[in-house]
Amino acid sequence: MNLSKYNIERRYIVKRSNTRPGLRLTTGVPAFFVAHDTGNPGASAEAHFRYFNNLQGRSASAHTFIDDKQILEIIPTGTGDEPGEKAWHVLYNVKTDNERFGYNANDAAIGVELCYGGGIDFEQAYRRFVWYLAFCCTKFGKNPRLFIPSHKQLDPARKIDCDQALKAGGKTLKDLIADVVSEMAVSAAPTPVVPDFATLPVAVATELIDKYVRPAWAAAGQQPEADHFHRLATNLRSAAGVDDALHALAAPVKLHKSNVQEVVFRWLSPAWYVARDAGDPERARHYNALANWIRAAAGLPSA
Ligand SMILES: [Zn+2]
Repeated sequence: MNLSKYNIERRYIVKRSNTRPGLRLTTGVPAFFVAHDTGNPGASAEAHFRYFNNLQGRSASAHTFIDDKQILEIIPTGTGDEPGEKAWHVLYNVKTDNERFGYNANDAAIGVELCYGGGIDFEQAYRRFVWYLAFCCTKFGKNPRLFIPSHKQLDPARKIDCDQALKAGGKTLKDLIADVVSEMAVSAAPTPVVPDFATLPVAVATELIDKYVRPAWAAAGQQPEADHFHRLATNLRSAAGVDDALHALAAPVKLHKSNVQEVVFRWLSPAWYVARDAGDPERARHYNALANWIRAAAGLPSA
């Protein structure tokens, strides 16, 4: 996925036992992610920072507040440099989380709050919410289908978040999970690899094999040496994008540097000297060209 699509702002509330006790998550890194909404229509991430930074007299908090403008972590989660800390975003005496995940969410999960309603643009806030949950699942290696419960799922007798905020934007929890999955799926696509080597021309591979490798293989007799030349021929063909039976391969394979050194020192370099001493610069240039082709096939510069 695009891990830098949005910025995660980290500005932490003061440590206080009823909001930010400063205790590390029992699991070290977060084990799951609870999807909440603030239940407070129109209140921004910034407003919740101020609220929890000053809250006294009752235990409550969550890690991350997301509105249409920012993703704000007010308690360390482990997505940044600071290790994840506990927050008070569920009730300890409701045991659904313990049964499903083996831990209470306060001790092991990140509480993620969607800000909604009032002047908050649902679409913009929802996109950030989806991305942040996808970021967390990617960072901590969690399947979003299993590790993003809503608060309502953990405490159905008492809670209706984050389903109520999603509903305000015409979404369901199922939509949310599906959107997180597709946000992550973009990342799962392989990064295109730009080859750092050139495809060896089939004519070059064929000439080297026919002129040098095959005769050496035929003369080798003993098994290990014969195997070695057989492998060398296979590697030269692979570098040209063909297999032993001269079928096309999907992509040429980079040649080993040791193969280049061997072909150059065993055959091409001596042949070059012979040609030069015989006063045949055209032949000498030919051997030089062959050597540079196999160097390029191994990603090495010309000599
Ligand atoms: Zn909640």
